[in-house]
Amino acid sequence: MTFKELNIAEPILKALSNKKYEIPTPIQEKAIPLALDGRDILGLAQTGTGKTAAYAIPIIQQLLLSKALTNKKQTIKALILTPTRELAIQIDECFTDYAKYTGLRNTVIFGGVNQRPQVDKLRQGIDILTATPGRLLDLIAQKHVQLNNIQHFVLDEADRMLDMGFIHDIKRLIPLLPVKRQTLFFSATMPSTIASLSKSILHNPLKVEVAQVSSAAETIEQHLYFVEKPQKSDLLITLLKREWNKSVLVFSRTKHGADKIARILNKKGIGCEAIHGNKTQNARQRALSDFKTGKTHVIIATDIAARGIDIANLELVINYDMPDVAETYIHRIGRTGRAGQNGIALTFCSSEEKVMVSDIQKLTGKKLNALLIPA
Ligand code: AMP
Repeated sequence: MTFKELNIAEPILKALSNKKYEIPTPIQEKAIPLALDGRDILGLAQTGTGKTAAYAIPIIQQLLLSKALTNKKQTIKALILTPTRELAIQIDECFTDYAKYTGLRNTVIFGGVNQRPQVDKLRQGIDILTATPGRLLDLIAQKHVQLNNIQHFVLDEADRMLDMGFIHDIKRLIPLLPVKRQTLFFSATMPSTIASLSKSILHNPLKVEVAQVSSAAETIEQHLYFVEKPQKSDLLITLLKREWNKSVLVFSRTKHGADKIARILNKKGIGCEAIHGNKTQNARQRALSDFKTGKTHVIIATDIAARGIDIANLELVINYDMPDVAETYIHRIGRTGRAGQNGIALTFCSSEEKVMVSDIQKLTGKKLNALLIPA
């Protein structure tokens, strides 16, 4: 199955082929035809499965067709709600890419930065808006955003949205949307709170499910090093020197730890940057773009900061510290090996952290084999 066979319109096909996307991922193959039919979707999929394009492509295509019919002025017709700024930025970048030849306009709003540039952009007329809940509510209260023309609404990463305490914001936003709309709801997990939220906002939805990263991550090679805490930084330096040309994401359990690792590496001449909640939004974005453009090869992140960051061709994930829960391990290693590419995940485990190994193996159904520490 190709995108062409899914009857994707020519301007979108052209944009996809610029990115060398020809074959839809499983979630795209399932969701796109249903969404193009105007159906509501309950999608169970994690980041890394290609879910952003699974909703972005049918939204762009439907807007493209209705634009040709009505030539309506640019009011917001599609809203994508997502929990973090990083995700919001990435989603908006996807719309920029896929809608490049359509004349549709998209932008993104999120908190923690001056609202002026965002408001200026909105004033120019926007078809597709990606937003985090807080800033969206702020700008609605100030009358910079109206939701009464929304035809397509996406709730992305619904489970994280709830984890991060956004439930009240979501409940305030839903009544502001037109009742007649298409809703696409995505979540990596489906606990009962999410199931009941989905019921309250979806209309006769079709369920679309793809394998969890725990099984999808077959392409990720996973290894373990038994190494005590004081020796971890030496091991990291040895590995990074060996893999000097790979892009590497290193996970630290704490912000303080992330800074410390970054200091040690920089001292050794290994250019790297740390991203975590204590850094400003601008510093985080700069670190990410340096990494994406290859200016730095190593980034050190805490779990929260790394949520959903999408780095194409991330080849190696190193768990400097064991995660606190096994699910986090899956989220972390899922940053590599995306869309069927190969990836490697190396985990440093001290004697204190050994208890986690069996939890992880149980969850992934895979044995983590231990490697000898290189001399
Ligand atoms: P997502 O799950 O939306 O975060 O997407 C995961 C990664 O897969 C992103 O880097 C996308 O750009 C990439 N991707 C999405 N769709 C395709 C496709 N059909 N072929 C190749 N890569 C894709």
